[in-house]
Amino acid sequence: MATMSEESMIEEHEITVTCPACDTETQLPLERASETIQRHNDRMHAGEAIATVDPVIKDELARIIAEDLDLL
Ligand SMILES: [Zn+2]
Repeated sequence: MATMSEESMIEEHEITVTCPACDTETQLPLERASETIQRHNDRMHAGEAIATVDPVIKDELARIIAEDLDLL
C-alpha cells in the first residue's frame, strides 16, 4: 500500500510561513500550517494575523492544488 497518490503529495508539501514581527521564516507541512499560524498569532501577537504564508508560496500552492484538482 505504498502508493503515492496526488492527495498525499499535497499533504507532504511544505510551505513557508513568515512572521515579519518576529523576523522568522518557518517551513511547515501544509496540513499543519494554518493551525500553527493561528497558534503563533494567538500567543505572540494577541490574535493579530501577523504571521502568514509566504505570498509566493501561496501562488505556487494555488497552482499545485488547481493542477491536482484537474482545473488547469
Ligand atoms: Zn510572530
